[in-house]
Amino acid sequence: MHELSLSRAILQTALAHADGRRVVAVEVSVGALRQVVPDSLQFYFGVLAQGTPCEGAALQARTSPARMQCDCGAEWELAEPVFRCPRCAGAQVLVLAGEELRVESIEVEEKPCIAPG
Ligand SMILES: [Zn+2]
Repeated sequence: MHELSLSRAILQTALAHADGRRVVAVEVSVGALRQVVPDSLQFYFGVLAQGTPCEGAALQARTSPARMQCDCGAEWELAEPVFRCPRCAGAQVLVLAGEELRVESIEVEEKPCIAPG
């Protein structure tokens, strides 16, 4: 059900940006530490989007690597959560990135402008 709440958040962001225009595609970047299944995300997005301007929009989910930093100053990227520094083997590490969920772009169908000006 994790993907369901994320899909809802993506849909709300897309609808807010679309401002009533029909949405063709939404591209999101999901941090690796969220361990999201892109297929599930797409599935729930499709269900939630029914009856909204996002209905039928393609959801493109990209996984962005996690970034970690150790007390010793080392920084590294990882695809799998490993909470130990590869340089000093310390465990006092910070997550710099990997938990984000970012809507990167939204493609909307432009309606011809009929309003004056
Ligand atoms: Zn270290």
